[in-house]
Amino acid sequence: VHQYDSAQSVFDLLERQFVIGEDTLVELTQAFLEEFKVGLESYNHPMAMIPTFVTAVPDGTETGTFLALDLGGTNLRVCEVVLNGNKTFNLVQQKYRVSETLKSGEATALFDYLADSVDAFLTTHATTDYTSPTEATSGTPLSDVHLGLTFSFPVEQTALGSGKILTWTKGFSAKNAVGNDVVKLLQDAFDRKHMHVKCVALVNDTVGALLSRAYQAGGCFAGAIFGTGTNGAYMEQVSKIKKLAGNPAWDKGGLMAINTEWGAFNNSRSHLPTTPYDNAIDRLSINPKFQAFEKFISGMYLGEVVRNIIVSLVDATPKSLLFGGKSTAFLNKHYGLDTSFMSATEEAWIGDDSSPDAFVHPPLSVEFKREELNAAVLKKLDNIRTIIAKTLGFKLEDVSLNDAAVIRWICSLVARRAALLSGVAVATVLIQTEQATLKGLEKPARGLNQKLGVGVDGSLIEHYPNFGKILRESLVLLVGEEVEQRVEIGLAKDGSGVGAALCALMALKQG
Ligand code: ADP
Repeated sequence: VHQYDSAQSVFDLLERQFVIGEDTLVELTQAFLEEFKVGLESYNHPMAMIPTFVTAVPDGTETGTFLALDLGGTNLRVCEVVLNGNKTFNLVQQKYRVSETLKSGEATALFDYLADSVDAFLTTHATTDYTSPTEATSGTPLSDVHLGLTFSFPVEQTALGSGKILTWTKGFSAKNAVGNDVVKLLQDAFDRKHMHVKCVALVNDTVGALLSRAYQAGGCFAGAIFGTGTNGAYMEQVSKIKKLAGNPAWDKGGLMAINTEWGAFNNSRSHLPTTPYDNAIDRLSINPKFQAFEKFISGMYLGEVVRNIIVSLVDATPKSLLFGGKSTAFLNKHYGLDTSFMSATEEAWIGDDSSPDAFVHPPLSVEFKREELNAAVLKKLDNIRTIIAKTLGFKLEDVSLNDAAVIRWICSLVARRAALLSGVAVATVLIQTEQATLKGLEKPARGLNQKLGVGVDGSLIEHYPNFGKILRESLVLLVGEEVEQRVEIGLAKDGSGVGAALCALMALKQG
């Protein structure tokens, strides 16, 4: 609304809004720990700290063949997993699209679609012929195919194989689902179609990442997702899960995986350094005031944060600061800019440069002259111009070198904030499990000299340039370098499928 004095002052303000200092990171970690504590003691807290009834982590020797169904990401996935028992597995999978109509329609329609997808998978992809009428040919009854469901929404679990849906996230809002047992909703859909599939286990994708990484690495204490959404899980001492008192699991003691639902951090109290862009995203989202942390971090929102900033610079007065005041349909559209655009511009900037930090961002308020730029920088900026033109639907000549530099810089600001905050979540888990202390000031009580395995999954951590590196910068500040060095962040390959299979196996063993 206000007129700016100089272009540089606008960029300086943006920087102040998005840069997070060490003190803030420390305060956020303390607030996070407090939320963990409240969540472990009470139900219905935003940081749900959900007991999962997974009481052990695999060691890689597990065997068996299972189906897995994964709902909660961008696609619905059905897979068949064969655990070979030597830390390896074979997996065939098929993705199915979940339409917006299904996401927001009646739950029965959504679950019928899930059952149909499993049915289609069994006839077209499965390596085992589950559909042959063994009953007729051999006299043995047709046995059930065991399926593990990866359901990556907040669920209040009461056993490995049942859990009540607490709320939808990530753009889902199907009616008559919240409050119901998700395993029953799915099983009823299988039964309506007379399918011989039995859903025996329910697992969240974060717990899946934890289990699957443990299987592949022979151990692991936490799992984390940085994809469409963000969430984490870790092995907690049952004695600290005070709200389990009275449950048979409480008396057994030992360890249990907790699904933190950390995407909800900041829902109840405002800790995060929130910008007007974040407020706009929240206000226009389908879940205002919910999943506050997730809106700062995950793939679903980062592109939209960047789009909001770009649009504000296009509209800036007295003179536009981007694209000479022009815009495009993609740029004007809510969620018109995917987070992969940010990755692409940053990749183009880093290029094959062995030391990407060698370039400080160019002086953004000075107009670049082609002939004055270093050849390597010019090439990078031209590559970024091409990406911008293509993705946003501009003509190449409408995108200046300055536009390219400004946009690349905006992407790095927003992504850096996300990665540092992701580090806060991981640091919180390290401190909560007593394997680290805040800022590394004291000797931790546990895990000394051990590798601290974290299984991760999601496009951001997998593909966003330097996301993992910046997350580690945050860890160094928050838990000290000695602990950070021992943290092993490893991709949980096919985490949701393998995790669901492992969970189905545990459920069968428990009877
Ligand atoms: P999901 O979490 O849905 O299982 P992903 O981990 O692939 O699946 O995350 C998808 C999210 O990641 C989308 O929000 C998308 O915008 C974002 N994304 C996709 N590709 C990239 C990329 N190369 N870099 C950063 N983000 C990406």
